[in-house]
Amino acid sequence: MIAQKPDFEFWFVTGSQDLYGPATLEQVAKDSQAIVEGLNKAKALPYNLVWKPTVLTAEGISATLEAATAEKKCAGVITWMHTFSPAKMWVRGLLVLKKPLLQFHTQFNRDIPWSTIDMDFMNLNQSAHGDREYGHITARLGLKRSIVAGHWQDKDTQKRLGAWARVAAAVTEGRSARFVRFGDNMREVAVTDGDKVAAQIKLGWSVNSYGVGELVKRVNAVPAKAVDDLIAEYKKTYVIGKDILDNPKQLDRLKVQARLEIAIEAFLVEGRYLGFTTSFEDLYGLDQLPGLAAQRLMAKGYGFAGEGDWKTAALVRAVKLMGDGLPGATSFMEDYTYHMEDGKKMVLGSHMLEICPTIADGPVKVEIHPLGIGGKDDPARLVFSAATGEATNASLVEFGDRFRLIVNEVKSVKIPQAMPKLPVAQAMWVPYPDFTTGLEGWIWAGGAHHTAYSTAVDADMLQTYADQLGLEFVRIGKGTTVESIRQNLAVQELLAFKGNFR
Ligand code: MN
Repeated sequence: MIAQKPDFEFWFVTGSQDLYGPATLEQVAKDSQAIVEGLNKAKALPYNLVWKPTVLTAEGISATLEAATAEKKCAGVITWMHTFSPAKMWVRGLLVLKKPLLQFHTQFNRDIPWSTIDMDFMNLNQSAHGDREYGHITARLGLKRSIVAGHWQDKDTQKRLGAWARVAAAVTEGRSARFVRFGDNMREVAVTDGDKVAAQIKLGWSVNSYGVGELVKRVNAVPAKAVDDLIAEYKKTYVIGKDILDNPKQLDRLKVQARLEIAIEAFLVEGRYLGFTTSFEDLYGLDQLPGLAAQRLMAKGYGFAGEGDWKTAALVRAVKLMGDGLPGATSFMEDYTYHMEDGKKMVLGSHMLEICPTIADGPVKVEIHPLGIGGKDDPARLVFSAATGEATNASLVEFGDRFRLIVNEVKSVKIPQAMPKLPVAQAMWVPYPDFTTGLEGWIWAGGAHHTAYSTAVDADMLQTYADQLGLEFVRIGKGTTVESIRQNLAVQELLAFKGNFR
């Protein structure tokens, strides 16, 4: 399970009105309870769904949505209009709701009861028009919201509800999420820099720096026994050659990473931090850049990015939480170099050390090699190749107080030839819709070299994340062209001018 997993639940709120009389309202309550029970039983959401009594008046609606806003455990609200619920009643409540909102457009019965349908049935089962009245007011208010239409027992509908809940959990967690930076960002780099206050206003992330000395103090205090225990765990989990295990100098180098892992993890747990960054330019007093240590902490679910890139570190955590329990995995990633052979063009993704081993396919090997940058001792790292399949690369960039989430759908492919001299974890992918459009679209959009790479979370989920937070969203993928991407960017610029993303 992901480290520091939030203890969340979701609320299911059914709308109606009081002119229907007690018999109808009793049936409404029964039906919505059956839906909640059914969804919980099917484990449609990875969190518990909590039934709330039917809301009938502006006062009732407002009280329920205010309570949802105040309840720490509530990560989002699913609304459904079983009957007609005049939407002027919803204005006050929707304006105070500060949790992710999903309009679930469903109905209790799957089929029309052909032989028995009468006007009583019609008066009870009104979501086809009740949800439209309600949808009008959410559109009129310009609310950040998501919409899922479909029958509640349908597997695909349930899957979409689950995807929404995963995203909503990441949005809500972000509102009080804390991230730590050891040192500042890499000097002169634009895209990893930015306005942390704007990010806190927009996404809730609290990002603060500590001098690396704070870490050095803790690293030096790690007991030898704890290091030995962790080395024993490494031996069980990874392939470690005799060149390391039988060579005291190399084994000491591996112990340096174990000490770093223990010290950083303790720091994160004590401070309730959900992720961290390091900087190879700020390692004063440390023996190595955290390599294997950062990789293992990412595998536990912490967000991470190199070179002080706090936006990507926080995004990696968000995507890891969204993907927790889904097939696939998520890692910090960087587009490193290209293979440009005609007909076989692809991207080699890696980093100088820190790729998350959860994306590995096959054995994960511990290796120790010099690092040509940072001027420190040879760091131990985990080396592997990534699993193949459909994946996304997501980058969060900032334009003053606007944030843009750029997503490229990619196909992760088998690495065609061994690269025996490349001592880092590696992934290879072909961008959608094609190599050239993927690259050009990304650069038009201003996407970073750092990304959150995921085989668990797709572009639809990331679009929902952007929708719920009011981020600009650019998808580069199946069906897009350079023209459509540039058109989308122009629209986003206009919406930003209108103040839409503030
Ligand atoms: Mn980098």
